[in-house]
Amino acid sequence: MKTIGLIGGMSWESTVTYYKVINKTIKRELGGLHSAKILMYSLDFDEIEKYQAADEWDKSGRVLSDIAVLLEKAGADFIVICTNTMHKVVPQMSKCISIPIIHIAEATAEKLKKQKITTIGLLGTKYTMTQDFYKERLIEAGIKVIIPNEEDIETVNSIIYKELCLGDIRQDSKEKYLTIINKMTDAGAQGVILGCTEIGLLIQQSDIDLPVFDTTLIHAEKAALSSIND
Ligand code: GLU
Repeated sequence: MKTIGLIGGMSWESTVTYYKVINKTIKRELGGLHSAKILMYSLDFDEIEKYQAADEWDKSGRVLSDIAVLLEKAGADFIVICTNTMHKVVPQMSKCISIPIIHIAEATAEKLKKQKITTIGLLGTKYTMTQDFYKERLIEAGIKVIIPNEEDIETVNSIIYKELCLGDIRQDSKEKYLTIINKMTDAGAQGVILGCTEIGLLIQQSDIDLPVFDTTLIHAEKAALSSIND
């Protein structure tokens, strides 16, 4: 079994889900007392969020690159970054290590293609929804991406940073998200990507008729399967 190098803490609320899903997937696949081999570095999200807000991606990229180097030296076979947003610095990180990074948007695009989805709604941080680094992976896979309008982007983003990353799960915020998802459905979305690793704490498949693609679950399962199959 390969060793997974997990970079967590962004926020730790969703890293908990990664840890559980990776281990449950290994147990499902191998049975008995099997569990995942994981090296985890969980960082202080406050530092990263400040770099994001100040548009200092290079600095946050350096922090994550240093951690990836440590994990490689410690014996990780590949890296899993437990957040969508910080995949923005994957090109910078890749230059510093010789092990692969399992990309969350690529794992999600694979799932969408399997389900023959051609138009998808995307929810995530404002960086993930408005910038190219994430959407381009979906577009390259032939998938059209719909994002909320400007006002709704602010709502979705603010609920992520001011509530979900703090473990504050509110019914009124869930309703706001469901209304925004409905608007994307009206605009032609055949499903919705929960493109922020904390959104699954608020919205689940049982809340929506259309297919929901929870990036945390998809990414964690792919990490576990890669550790035993690749
Ligand atoms: N975990 C979130 C994501 O998946 C947001 C926190 C972050 O900015 O990294 O994008």
